[in-house]
Amino acid sequence: MSASDVDPAGSAAHKSNGFERLRIKPVINACGIFTDLGGSILSPEIWSAMTELNSFFVDLPDLLDRSGERIAELLGCEAARITPGASAGIALAVAACIVDGRAALGERLPDTSGLRGELVMQHAQAAAYKYLVAVRISGANVLRAGSASGCTELELRNTLSGNTAAVFIPAHLDELPGCLKLEEVSRIAHEHGIPVIVDAAYMNFPPQMMRSFRGRGADITCFSSKYIGGPNAGGFLCGRKDLVDAVRGLDFTHHESGDYRRFGRAFKQGRYEIAAVQLALEEWFRLDHSTRLAAIAERARRLARLLSVSDHLSTQLKLFTMDGRLVEGPVNAVVVSMTRSAERSTRQVIDELAAGYPSIHALECAGQLVLVTETLRDGEEELLAERLCRAVSGK
Ligand SMILES: *Cc1c(COP(=O)(O)O)cnc(C)c1O
Repeated sequence: MSASDVDPAGSAAHKSNGFERLRIKPVINACGIFTDLGGSILSPEIWSAMTELNSFFVDLPDLLDRSGERIAELLGCEAARITPGASAGIALAVAACIVDGRAALGERLPDTSGLRGELVMQHAQAAAYKYLVAVRISGANVLRAGSASGCTELELRNTLSGNTAAVFIPAHLDELPGCLKLEEVSRIAHEHGIPVIVDAAYMNFPPQMMRSFRGRGADITCFSSKYIGGPNAGGFLCGRKDLVDAVRGLDFTHHESGDYRRFGRAFKQGRYEIAAVQLALEEWFRLDHSTRLAAIAERARRLARLLSVSDHLSTQLKLFTMDGRLVEGPVNAVVVSMTRSAERSTRQVIDELAAGYPSIHALECAGQLVLVTETLRDGEEELLAERLCRAVSGK
């Protein structure tokens, strides 16, 4: 399908020279916040701050220090540092624990010989965790405590040793059946003097939750800014000052000018992105989230109303969770089921929506089509509904 053979009025808003020059199609995002679809849309305030910064040079190490102080203040912890994403934060935090404050030793990584090179995770969490490569990039050897069905305190203790650099916990997997909770893991790790690193990339709501991990035992917690309206390639870590200082000694700054080369040189950031991460977190704490969530739910109801004209589908309003389940709760999604009269399967409809112009990206969950309204922009419901009704009818 080409740009010219679909409703030109509806897609006009999505046409611009930028897309043509880049030879890509604009996307109507009905999937939610996904790295592969660009993360979040930055607010006009953040965008203009980035534009302003682009006109100046800055002392980048200074910008990282100042923004880190501000983020520590917002998160109520001793220290913080902006990173180019949660994954980079995880990689840097693990490396910081491996070199144990001796930042110059970061030059050797991923060769961990002579250093504490082991990182401990609970087996079931490691098996379900998608970002293990970020944990391992420093050369860490991941040891799995317990089994696929869970982990006991004794199993965790038996996996810790003098070679353990850190224990790692994906906070979103804290409730996995049979797994020890963050508090329990931290208590045991701390008895052995071992730090605990937490991936809390999307554990950001209510915003106060972001402040809770330190008190629950995390020594370093990593967040992604893609989930708080910040840059797709942004994030921050926060926690114990000595560990954040160790990260500071490893990240990309002073690589060329300092007296040793930096493990984190490949995790480079621009001044505008650093500023955007800080501003996004400030906005996240300032935002009226009940208004934000009400707008997402209203968009879902409106989309369901627009879809009700079709006999080929039925709709339900649901909460699509970050771990991909459809549940009752604050509505952020329309679940579409094809009726018997539909001429297309769910998969065919999804593929057809994606192939059109603009491309419409929707999710499939348990054979149903899911439209997440959190990432839809004003006016996109109409075009989406029209294209979807057309696709299910086979026209
Ligand atoms: C997205 C995500 C990450 C990676 O964050 P980036 O900022 O994209 O590097 C890590 N952990 C979880 C749970 C995530 O959802």
